[in-house]
Amino acid sequence: MSSTDIDAVTAAFTDRFGAQPAGVWAAPGRVNLIGEHTDYNDGFVMPFALAQAVTVAAGPRDDGRWSVTSLNQDQTKEFGPDDLTPGMDGWAAYVAGVVWALRGAGYPVTGADLVLTSDVPVGAGLSSSAALECAALAALADLSDLDVDPLERAKLARTCENEFVGAPTGLMDQAASTLCTLGHALFFDCRSFKTEQVHLALDEAGLELLVLDTQTPHALVDSEYAARRRSCEEAARLLGVAALRDVTDLDAALALLPEVEMQRRVRHVVTENARVLAAADVLRADRTTDLAPLLDASHASMRDDFEITVPTVDLAVATAKSAGALGARMTGGGFGGCIIALVAAGTADEVAEAIAAAFADAGYGRPTHFLGLPSAGASRLR
Ligand code: ADP
Ligand code: MG
Repeated sequence: MSSTDIDAVTAAFTDRFGAQPAGVWAAPGRVNLIGEHTDYNDGFVMPFALAQAVTVAAGPRDDGRWSVTSLNQDQTKEFGPDDLTPGMDGWAAYVAGVVWALRGAGYPVTGADLVLTSDVPVGAGLSSSAALECAALAALADLSDLDVDPLERAKLARTCENEFVGAPTGLMDQAASTLCTLGHALFFDCRSFKTEQVHLALDEAGLELLVLDTQTPHALVDSEYAARRRSCEEAARLLGVAALRDVTDLDAALALLPEVEMQRRVRHVVTENARVLAAADVLRADRTTDLAPLLDASHASMRDDFEITVPTVDLAVATAKSAGALGARMTGGGFGGCIIALVAAGTADEVAEAIAAAFADAGYGRPTHFLGLPSAGASRLR
């Protein structure tokens, strides 16, 4: 989000409705620093909010209906209470579903007009969807004078995504978008929902975090995600634990499992959880550089044990390393999307350029990149 985005949504709102918006809100996308496929195993994750965000100007209306304009889509959608049916088509479902979730939880939501823009890349695994939900929720909750705490906001936004849009996701994305604070990563326990802000001291350590979108079209994501999830649940059942988070002795657990593939899946989840805990320790001690081997190990585990990487992603990570990155890993659910690389300050462009060259040699399309700047969660801007 930028001041240009604030001006853009304010001007578009004023143009359309002939009056100033009542306010402007924003909610960021996120990148997961470490902890992949641990969320549905009741484990730990550590996302941070990006500077990229959905920015929304909004004002109340008195006919009890809602309109939402996306400047990115150049489209306006309007809906009333009778249109709030789960499974609704199109991007406006992410806003209608927020109204639906708030009302379902007993919150009276005022009719409103929303005009939004976003600089969160869409479909890259950076949670443009959660940013959209959380921005809409921030605007609607304030306009309706609702007292909803940030964790409750995250849960309602997830209800929208799971039950109204129909995408089965954990709470991480919405928690990151609402709860993150500037300069910190969010150490999040997906079982207890306990949170801790851990200082991500990149500047102080002379580091920066490159986020590179491989632009790989996601294939098989839904079926592979479901298969991994099933495998983890089946393993937990065989091991007699509520979730893989409860496995304390990995070797003993592996000895109890019948198939090599399931053993690998369990090894990823158990070691990945341990890496998130180690990352929290490292950041608490401001030893940011020591994140690097954890990122590398996380990537190897996703590649070899959980088998959720693809050739573009593996090439990006390997090239980042050979171009000088201290550590690198795929981030997100897998089968494409983004990688992150911890690099010396001032070298992110160079590392990204090396990856672009390797992609050109391999016949892949050109990746895009930006710096991951640990930013604040959803807030009112005006
Ligand atoms: P991700 O969250 O990884 O970016 P998703 O598939 O979960 O990908 O969410 C992307 C969807 O969110 C888009 O297809 C669109 O429906 C909606 N969306 C995101 N940003 C916007 C926007 N600025 N305007 C309209 N819809 C958007
Ligand atoms: Mg999403």
